[in-house]
Amino acid sequence: MKLAVIGTGYVGLVAGVCFAEAGNDVLCVDVDEAKLARLRAGELTIYEPGLEHLFARNLREERLHFTNDLATAVSHADIVFLALPTPQGESGEADLSYILGCARDIGGLLEKYSVVVTKSTVPVGTADKVRAAIDEAMQARGASVEFDVASNPEFLREGVAVEDFLKPERVVIGTDSARAEELLRELYHPFVLSGNPILVMDSRSAEITKYAANAMLAVRISFMNEIASLCEACDANVDFVRLGIGLDSRIGKRFLFAGTGYGGSCFPKDVSALVMTGREFDAPQRLSEATQQINQDQKKTLLPRIETHFDNDLIGKKFAVWGIAFKPNTDDIREAPALIIIDELVKRGATVSAYDAEAMPPAKRVLAPLGAAVHFAQNPYEACDEADALIIVTEWNSFRDPDWEQMRARLKNAVIFDGRNIYELETASNHGFTYYSIGRPTVRPQ
Ligand code: NAD
Repeated sequence: MKLAVIGTGYVGLVAGVCFAEAGNDVLCVDVDEAKLARLRAGELTIYEPGLEHLFARNLREERLHFTNDLATAVSHADIVFLALPTPQGESGEADLSYILGCARDIGGLLEKYSVVVTKSTVPVGTADKVRAAIDEAMQARGASVEFDVASNPEFLREGVAVEDFLKPERVVIGTDSARAEELLRELYHPFVLSGNPILVMDSRSAEITKYAANAMLAVRISFMNEIASLCEACDANVDFVRLGIGLDSRIGKRFLFAGTGYGGSCFPKDVSALVMTGREFDAPQRLSEATQQINQDQKKTLLPRIETHFDNDLIGKKFAVWGIAFKPNTDDIREAPALIIIDELVKRGATVSAYDAEAMPPAKRVLAPLGAAVHFAQNPYEACDEADALIIVTEWNSFRDPDWEQMRARLKNAVIFDGRNIYELETASNHGFTYYSIGRPTVRPQ
């Protein structure tokens, strides 16, 4: 099938590569010339496990191309996917300007039947707006070309995006057109050979499904973070509580880990957009509203412990920070809790020596305004050199089984503030550390 994917970011690039891998002829469009130049030269612009060899193979076998020319892409494609940004607008709503601007451009260009599919996360009612925008632009040029609109929200998780895309647990398609449904079923058939379902529904339900999924996950995280605070306040251990509830099949074990809060490009903006949509339709989303507030507070949860430990004086203190990406296996630092923690430490007069396995380049750009207060280390142990304590913010696998002796030798004090609970309490204390974590008792050296 001939496809166009408009927007070549995390979603568009992974989708483009994976669709090409299934044998489709994919033309990816972006307005970012620097990004296009790198991609055309065979250089990936994001870090995503497993993406590199698929990208290289499909470039080499010429099923994957990149252009800045929307007209070429529209005339090429049977299906046009919109994988454009839907950032948080000024009042917290989803900003649809990229989607609707592109829909208008497509309306100005369509010459043959196509399905225009929104893969971006968009609020309920967007499919109708996309259809209207295309129609309007078409009418303005006196054309009348048949087209369909569909919603196909994307559920991939950064860090395992390729696996998620190639073997989705479900594919959601929102459309009222049998023709569009047939094309999309054919396209997705190779991805659901193991028997996972393609769910076809009206576009409004498809649009809400995506927000409901992200908000539900965000609520679970925030719920556990509140339970963790209670555990801390009364000397209980959230690890036991997590297992105790997670083994109940009605609840399930996943997404029950307490930590320094969720970040990333999706949960924060999507929860916010859902809250705004609820207000618009007079159907308040109070759980999501509370979740937003809990998560904002949670990103700072390590700070009071750090301040108390150092007698409320962080001036001149140096902290090693392990992990900047909002989660492991990605270089994405959007809304990452580490950025807030680092900023707050610097505001209190401390300096930071930070290390991340993949996110150093974007972190250097974003943290540049903090100047010399933030040093970027070559490896996790260098970050510990002469630091007053270690703060763990992202649970990269490489941090899970560290060289404890080297850590102790390089740190000024054997103190860890762990925002992801990656060590057993006993292990940290047996290795001579004072170990603060989330929702668990603080332990001291044995
Ligand atoms: P991104 O910011 O990584 O990528 C967007 C791309 O669109 C950029 O490369 C940008 O240059 C390009 N672009 C902007 N305007 C353009 C235009 N007019 N024409 C062509 N290209 C243009 O965004 P993303 O993370 O891929 O997210 C895209 C959408 O998918 C969002 O709605 C997001 O909520 C949703 N989503 C993201 C994820 C995720 O994990 N990142 C998962 C599921 C859904």
